Order: sequence, then C-alpha cells, then structure tokens
Amino acid sequence: MSIFTKIITGEIPSYKVAENDDFVAFLDINPNAKGHTLVVPKKEENKIFDLSKEAYASLMDFSYDVAKAIEIAVPCKRVGMSVIGLEVPHVHVHLIPINIMADMQFVQKVSLTHEEFVGLAAKIASKLG
Ligand code: AMP
Repeated sequence: MSIFTKIITGEIPSYKVAENDDFVAFLDINPNAKGHTLVVPKKEENKIFDLSKEAYASLMDFSYDVAKAIEIAVPCKRVGMSVIGLEVPHVHVHLIPINIMADMQFVQKVSLTHEEFVGLAAKIASKLG
C-alpha cells in the first residue's frame, strides 16, 4: 500500500485541497514552492502511462481545475506541471506555482509551518468552483 493510499484512507494526515470520487489533491509535504500540490487518483496505480486513456484524461481534467485554483490563490508567474513518481510509486501530478526555472527542479525546497500549510490548503480550496 502506498503512502498516498494511506492518505486517501485517512490512515495518515494531509493538507487536503480538493477531492471527488476518483481523485484527491493535497499539498506536497516537502514543497518546491508555496502551494506545491499533488493530484492523486484514489485507485493505486504505479505509472501514469499505465492508466487507461480515459483515466489519464480524467486526471488531467481534475488537475486543470486544481491548477486554476492555485493560480488564483498563490502569487506566481504560472503553474508548472510535472510527473515523476520515482519516490512514491502511486500516480501523482505535481502542480507547482513557479517564478523561476529552479522552482521546477526539485532541488531547492521551502519549509512551511503547520499553520502555513493549513492556510494555503484552505485558500486554494476556496478558489475551486
Ligand atoms: P516523486 O515520486 O518523485 O514524484 O515525489 C513524491 C513527492 O511526494 C515528493 O515531492 C514528496 O515530497 C511528496 N510526499 C511524500 N510523502 C508525502 C506525504 N505524506 N504528504 C505529502 N507529500 C508527500
């Protein structure tokens, strides 16, 4: 069972931003930038291109709405998107508010307090339709 499945089942906590029957979005715990969010299918699958085309399209559709909300909630030049999965083998889309290329490089990290995570998650959630 992946760590993200444990988040989905409520076994471990997360700073949740959005949820529907098939997907959940929560803040990355070790963010590249403030507002760095992960969008995760509830059905555990390892690699994104093992998803059906339909599931892939649904993931992108849900990610679109979350990205729009991040763009409104978090000051940034744009929202970058990345899929890696080398650390957690459970499909997830990284949505990252970026200002410079380094924000997409997973090298420089920002540390946030619990209160900052809570505030960011609530602010992004409030911008969802
Ligand atoms: P990767 O699998 O390489 O795409 O990276 C996995 C991402 O998941 C990293 O950015 C981690 O900081 C993030 N991550 C790992 N565990 C948690 C967690 N419990 N809650 C939120 N994000 C996490």
